[in-house]
Amino acid sequence: MESVVERYLARIESGCLPLGAGVVADYIPELARVDPDRFAVSLVVHDGHIYSVGDSDTQFTIQSISKALTYALALRECGVDVVDATIGVEPSGEAFNEISVDHSTRRPRNPMINAGALTAAALLIRPETMPTAPTTRQEWAPHLDAAFARILDFYSGCAGRQLSMDAAVYRSEMATGSRNRAIAYMLQSFGVFPPHPQATVDLYVRQCSVRVTSDDLAVIGSTFANGGVNPRTGRRMVDGQIARRVLSVMTTCGMYDGAGDWVTSVGLPAKSGVGGGILAVLPGQLGIGVFSPRLDEHGNSVRGVRACRLLSEDLGLHMFTVA
Ligand code: GLN
Repeated sequence: MESVVERYLARIESGCLPLGAGVVADYIPELARVDPDRFAVSLVVHDGHIYSVGDSDTQFTIQSISKALTYALALRECGVDVVDATIGVEPSGEAFNEISVDHSTRRPRNPMINAGALTAAALLIRPETMPTAPTTRQEWAPHLDAAFARILDFYSGCAGRQLSMDAAVYRSEMATGSRNRAIAYMLQSFGVFPPHPQATVDLYVRQCSVRVTSDDLAVIGSTFANGGVNPRTGRRMVDGQIARRVLSVMTTCGMYDGAGDWVTSVGLPAKSGVGGGILAVLPGQLGIGVFSPRLDEHGNSVRGVRACRLLSEDLGLHMFTVA
């Protein structure tokens, strides 16, 4: 039987479906092949129950939502001091793929834009643990595979099921991702990270190509809402301090140059991806996953933003709402 929550979500769906604005990302050619009209919303409440509407079992690539997760894993593996010495936490107000670093520190400004996300991925390759840093692509390959295996295990643990990579999207972005290569080489020239820039881009593109559903995003969100423990499996993925920090950075930087508008109108920590997903979190209470591939000028899902706005208004989710 349909629950009150599901009936409510069906209303959200009918409020969003008429929105036809936005375009599917096509700078990664494989992404242009997705059905632009797909739509799903999922909620995971504090006991781990999933409520969803629409195409909630359609898989799409996580893209930039991965940035929040890899940042969390870098904090867990390397510690806050090492991560803070390499990546800032200041909103940049810039587009996700801006060729940018902080001018005085020469660090990427935050982990939610590509410069910072590439750096977080580079930290996971951990060349400092190797007797001599590899030089060729072949020498890097096993380190890359090991780092990606840990990334996939971490994402899967947050989602509560085994996730996998979309090889076609991975190949498509590797074939066209000159911008990310440019950013990686720029960071190398500033001495931000030592590993091979190509290995770093490869790892980052793999993480962006992990397939998820809106249900997965909502479970991942609920893991962070719950202080780092997946409420469905009981597995602790990060400690409470890391969960709090990731949510803080998502609040200020997660929606790129649309972040200010988002915080004002929706008021939830969130992260979007050009695959059409948005993950949003109400700390202590709720994980939200939304999927709809048409994007606005910032690269955020048009219907996804609308759905989150409606949820926030109707349910009074804005984090600065005083009861
Ligand atoms: N893989 C994409 C890129 O780096 C992710 C961008 C995004 O989702 N905003 O260009």
